Amino acid sequence: MTLPYLLLDIDGVLIPFPAADGSTPPTHVRHTVLPTGRRPDDSVPIWLDPSQGRILTDLLTNGIVTPVWCTSWRKDATTIIGPLLGLPDFPYLDLPRPQITTSHPDGYLWKRDHVDTWLGRSPAVWIDDDFTSLDHGWAAERTSRGTPTLIVQPDPHLGLQPEHLTKVTKWVSQLPTARAV
Ligand SMILES: [Mg+2]
Repeated sequence: MTLPYLLLDIDGVLIPFPAADGSTPPTHVRHTVLPTGRRPDDSVPIWLDPSQGRILTDLLTNGIVTPVWCTSWRKDATTIIGPLLGLPDFPYLDLPRPQITTSHPDGYLWKRDHVDTWLGRSPAVWIDDDFTSLDHGWAAERTSRGTPTLIVQPDPHLGLQPEHLTKVTKWVSQLPTARAV
Protein backbone atom coordinates (compact mmCIF):
# COMPACT_ATOMS: atom_id res chain seq x y z
CA MET A 1 0.00 0.00 0.00
CA THR A 2 1.27 3.45 -0.87
CA LEU A 3 0.51 6.04 1.73
CA PRO A 4 -0.54 9.44 0.46
CA TYR A 5 2.13 12.08 0.65
CA LEU A 6 1.62 15.01 2.95
CA LEU A 7 3.38 18.06 1.51
CA LEU A 8 4.00 20.67 4.17
CA ASP A 9 4.79 24.34 3.70
CA ILE A 10 6.29 26.54 6.41
CA ASP A 11 5.86 30.28 5.79
CA GLY A 12 2.20 31.20 6.28
CA VAL A 13 1.53 27.72 7.68
CA LEU A 14 3.86 26.92 10.59
CA ILE A 15 5.13 30.51 10.69
CA PRO A 16 2.09 32.76 10.26
CA PHE A 17 2.60 36.19 8.79
CA PRO A 18 3.08 38.92 11.40
CA ALA A 19 0.27 41.38 12.01
CA ALA A 20 0.45 44.87 10.50
CA ASP A 21 2.07 46.13 13.71
CA GLY A 22 4.73 43.41 13.52
CA SER A 23 3.30 41.38 16.36
CA THR A 24 3.20 37.60 16.19
CA PRO A 25 0.68 35.20 17.77
CA PRO A 26 1.14 34.70 21.54
CA THR A 27 0.91 30.96 20.90
CA HIS A 28 4.14 31.10 18.91
CA VAL A 29 7.58 31.09 20.51
CA ARG A 30 10.15 33.32 18.87
CA HIS A 31 13.50 31.95 17.73
CA THR A 32 16.43 33.46 15.90
CA VAL A 33 17.82 31.20 13.20
CA LEU A 34 20.51 31.31 10.55
CA PRO A 35 19.29 29.86 7.25
CA THR A 36 21.83 28.24 4.94
CA GLY A 37 23.82 30.73 2.94
CA ARG A 38 23.28 33.73 5.20
CA ARG A 39 26.10 35.53 6.93
CA PRO A 40 26.40 34.93 10.69
CA ASP A 41 25.28 38.52 11.34
CA ASP A 42 22.22 38.09 9.13
CA SER A 43 20.04 35.84 11.26
CA VAL A 44 16.28 35.66 10.88
CA PRO A 45 13.54 35.83 13.51
CA ILE A 46 10.87 33.14 13.30
CA TRP A 47 8.02 32.02 15.53
CA LEU A 48 6.66 28.52 16.03
CA ASP A 49 3.85 27.04 18.11
CA PRO A 50 5.22 24.18 20.26
CA SER A 51 1.78 22.60 20.54
CA GLN A 52 1.73 22.26 16.76
CA GLY A 53 4.90 20.26 17.02
CA ARG A 54 3.17 17.73 19.23
CA ILE A 55 0.01 17.55 17.11
CA LEU A 56 1.97 17.25 13.89
CA THR A 57 4.21 14.58 15.34
CA ASP A 58 1.13 12.54 16.20
CA LEU A 59 -0.16 12.89 12.65
CA LEU A 60 3.15 12.20 10.98
CA THR A 61 3.98 9.13 13.01
CA ASN A 62 0.63 7.36 12.95
CA GLY A 63 1.32 5.70 9.62
CA ILE A 64 -1.42 7.31 7.53
CA VAL A 65 0.70 9.73 5.47
CA THR A 66 4.25 10.05 4.19
CA PRO A 67 5.37 13.57 5.10
CA VAL A 68 7.59 15.70 2.86
CA TRP A 69 8.59 19.32 3.35
CA CYS A 70 7.54 21.51 0.43
CA THR A 71 8.92 24.90 1.25
CA SER A 72 11.43 27.49 0.14
CA TRP A 73 13.26 26.62 3.37
CA ARG A 74 14.22 23.43 1.52
CA LYS A 75 16.86 21.50 3.53
CA ASP A 76 16.68 24.05 6.36
CA ALA A 77 13.21 22.69 7.05
CA THR A 78 14.85 19.46 8.17
CA THR A 79 17.74 21.01 10.06
CA ILE A 80 16.13 24.11 11.60
CA ILE A 81 12.33 24.11 11.62
CA GLY A 82 11.65 20.43 12.24
CA PRO A 83 14.03 20.16 15.19
CA LEU A 84 12.71 23.39 16.78
CA LEU A 85 9.22 21.88 16.68
CA GLY A 86 10.43 18.50 17.86
CA LEU A 87 9.18 16.84 14.68
CA PRO A 88 10.46 13.50 13.45
CA ASP A 89 12.98 13.67 10.63
CA PHE A 90 11.46 13.46 7.15
CA PRO A 91 12.63 14.47 3.68
CA TYR A 92 12.24 17.73 1.78
CA LEU A 93 11.58 18.55 -1.84
CA ASP A 94 14.56 20.22 -3.42
CA LEU A 95 12.46 22.87 -5.13
CA PRO A 96 13.89 24.79 -8.08
CA ARG A 97 15.01 28.39 -7.62
CA PRO A 98 13.22 30.29 -10.38
CA GLN A 99 13.94 33.98 -10.86
CA ILE A 100 10.45 35.17 -10.02
CA THR A 101 8.94 38.25 -8.42
CA THR A 102 5.58 36.66 -7.62
CA SER A 103 4.69 33.29 -6.16
CA HIS A 104 2.26 32.80 -9.07
CA PRO A 105 4.34 33.55 -12.17
CA ASP A 106 1.94 31.56 -14.37
CA GLY A 107 -1.18 32.15 -12.33
CA TYR A 108 -0.58 29.20 -10.03
CA LEU A 109 1.81 28.34 -7.21
CA TRP A 110 5.40 28.32 -8.42
CA LYS A 111 6.11 25.03 -6.65
CA ARG A 112 3.41 23.15 -8.47
CA ASP A 113 5.12 22.00 -11.67
CA HIS A 114 7.93 20.48 -9.64
CA VAL A 115 5.48 18.87 -7.24
CA ASP A 116 3.32 17.55 -10.07
CA THR A 117 6.29 15.82 -11.69
CA TRP A 118 7.62 14.54 -8.39
CA LEU A 119 4.28 13.10 -7.30
CA GLY A 120 3.58 11.28 -10.52
CA ARG A 121 0.36 9.41 -9.81
CA SER A 122 0.70 9.31 -6.04
CA PRO A 123 -2.17 10.52 -3.89
CA ALA A 124 -1.30 13.60 -1.89
CA VAL A 125 -2.52 16.16 0.55
CA TRP A 126 -0.75 19.48 0.21
CA ILE A 127 -0.82 22.13 2.92
CA ASP A 128 0.20 25.59 1.71
CA ASP A 129 -1.17 29.10 2.24
CA ASP A 130 -0.55 30.33 -1.27
CA PHE A 131 -2.68 28.37 -3.74
CA THR A 132 -4.71 30.04 -6.46
CA SER A 133 -7.92 28.83 -8.05
CA LEU A 134 -5.78 27.12 -10.70
CA ASP A 135 -4.14 25.00 -8.01
CA HIS A 136 -7.52 24.00 -6.63
CA GLY A 137 -8.49 23.08 -10.19
CA TRP A 138 -5.31 21.02 -10.52
CA ALA A 139 -6.18 19.08 -7.36
CA ALA A 140 -9.74 18.50 -8.55
CA GLU A 141 -8.54 17.29 -11.93
CA ARG A 142 -6.01 14.89 -10.39
CA THR A 143 -8.73 13.53 -8.15
CA SER A 144 -11.13 13.10 -11.05
CA ARG A 145 -8.46 11.11 -12.88
CA GLY A 146 -8.23 8.68 -10.00
CA THR A 147 -5.40 10.21 -7.99
CA PRO A 148 -6.90 11.54 -4.75
CA THR A 149 -5.52 15.01 -4.11
CA LEU A 150 -6.46 17.35 -1.29
CA ILE A 151 -5.41 20.95 -0.98
CA VAL A 152 -5.48 22.55 2.47
CA GLN A 153 -4.98 26.29 2.54
CA PRO A 154 -4.54 28.04 5.88
CA ASP A 155 -4.99 31.78 6.19
CA PRO A 156 -1.37 32.96 6.22
CA HIS A 157 -2.07 35.39 9.04
CA LEU A 158 -3.41 32.58 11.21
CA GLY A 159 -1.34 29.66 10.00
CA LEU A 160 -2.11 26.03 10.57
CA GLN A 161 -5.19 25.38 12.70
CA PRO A 162 -6.38 22.15 14.37
CA GLU A 163 -9.26 21.86 11.90
CA HIS A 164 -6.80 21.65 9.02
CA LEU A 165 -5.26 18.53 10.48
CA THR A 166 -8.69 17.10 11.25
CA LYS A 167 -9.49 17.62 7.60
CA VAL A 168 -6.35 15.74 6.61
CA THR A 169 -7.14 12.82 8.90
CA LYS A 170 -10.72 12.58 7.67
CA TRP A 171 -9.63 12.75 4.04
CA VAL A 172 -7.06 9.99 4.49
CA SER A 173 -9.51 7.77 6.34
CA GLN A 174 -11.93 7.78 3.41
CA LEU A 175 -9.33 6.83 0.82
CA PRO A 176 -10.05 3.41 -0.67
CA THR A 177 -6.66 1.98 0.27
CA ALA A 178 -6.14 3.77 3.57
CA ARG A 179 -7.35 0.93 5.74
CA ALA A 180 -5.96 -1.91 3.68
CA VAL A 181 -3.90 -4.34 5.72
MG1 LIG B 1 3.76 29.66 2.35
